Amino acid sequence: MIKYCMHCILPDTRPNLEIMEDGVCNACHSWSDKGNVIDWDARNDDLLDLIKGVKEQSTTWDCIIPVSGGKDSTWQVLKALEHGLKPLCVTWRTPARNALGQKNLDNLVSLGVDHIDFTINPDVECRLTVETFKEAGSLAIPMHMALFAIPLQLAIKFNIPLVLWGENSAMEYGGNDESVLGFKMTRAWLSKYGVTQGTTAEDWVSDDLSIQDLSAYVWPSDKELEDAGVTAAFLGWYLPWDPLETFKVSQEHGFEALSDGPKTGYYDFADVDDEFIITIHHWVKWYKFGFTRLWDNLSLEIRSGRLSRDEAIAIVKKTGDEYPQKAIDKFCTWAEISEPQFLQMAEKFRNHDIWTKQDGNWVLKDFLIEGWF
Ligand SMILES: [Zn+2]
Repeated sequence: MIKYCMHCILPDTRPNLEIMEDGVCNACHSWSDKGNVIDWDARNDDLLDLIKGVKEQSTTWDCIIPVSGGKDSTWQVLKALEHGLKPLCVTWRTPARNALGQKNLDNLVSLGVDHIDFTINPDVECRLTVETFKEAGSLAIPMHMALFAIPLQLAIKFNIPLVLWGENSAMEYGGNDESVLGFKMTRAWLSKYGVTQGTTAEDWVSDDLSIQDLSAYVWPSDKELEDAGVTAAFLGWYLPWDPLETFKVSQEHGFEALSDGPKTGYYDFADVDDEFIITIHHWVKWYKFGFTRLWDNLSLEIRSGRLSRDEAIAIVKKTGDEYPQKAIDKFCTWAEISEPQFLQMAEKFRNHDIWTKQDGNWVLKDFLIEGWF
C-alpha cells in the first residue's frame, strides 16, 4: 500500500523518500529545517575560501562547470563569473537536443566562457540506452553516467582544480550522512544520487559494448580525483537554491523557457532542452512508483508556500496521466523500435505491489485521488 506525505503529495515509493512518524516526509522536514539551521553567511565565506584556493592552484581554467544550457547551469556560470572564476564549460550532448536547448546553450557560452560540447558515438549511445531501458527500465542511466564522467575526466586531463556542480539533490532528503551531504561530490554520492540505479559503466560492458566503447561513461574514483588535485563541489552547498530564483536571473541573461507549456511536470522552464530522454525517464516512474515529475514539482511548490496541498491535488487530477506520445514517438524513431515494443519493455517494470487490474484496467491501489481513471 502506498503511503503519501501529509504535507506534500509524494508517495513513499519514491526512491530515497521516507515518511516519518508524524506522517510528513524527510524531504519536507529537511526543507523546513533549511532556513533555520544553515548559516548562509558562513557558507558564503567558505565559498570565498574555496575560490581563493582554486585561484592559487590553477594554471589553465579555474573550474569546469558541467552545463546543459538550462536555467540552473546558466545561473551557475553567472555566479562563477561574478566571483572572478575562469570556467571551462562542458556539456554531454544529448541525442535528444532540440532547437531551444541549442539556443540556450549558445546563450550560455556567449556569457563569456570556453565550452566543449561532447558528443558520444551515436551508435554506442543508442545501443546502451536501449539496453538500460530493457534491463533497468531507465533511459537516463547513460545520460547520468556521461554527464558526471565527462567533466570529471576532463578536469583530471586538463589539470583543472575544481568541478563546480549545481544543487546537491541529496539535501532534499535531509539526514546527517556526511559522505553525501557535504560540499563534496563523492563516489558514494554518485552511487546513491547519481540516478544510475547504483550501476557504473563497468556494469554495462557486454559482448557488444566494450569498456573502451564506454570510455566516456567511466567515473574516475575518489582517489584518482584526489591524486590529480581535483575537488568536485556543489555550488548549492554554498548558496541557497530556488528554482524560481535561478530561472528569474537566467531569464534576465537571455535564457528562454518553453513557449507552449511544460514538456513534463509543472515548470515550463525546466527540462526544456531534451525531446525524449528526460520526459520518458520521468514517465516510467508512473509504472515503477505510481507518481510522475509533476508530483515532484508540485511538492516543491507546496513546501515553498506557493500552492496548498489541495490545489496541488486538483492540478494532478486535471492533468491526468500525461502519456508522453510525442516523446515516445521520437524515442522509437531514434532507437528503431515500434511503440508496442517500447510499451512491452516498459510493462516489465510495472510495480505489482502498487498496481492491480480492475475490469481490465490497471489501477493504483489506495491512490491519492479517489475515482481516478
Ligand atoms: Zn512531504
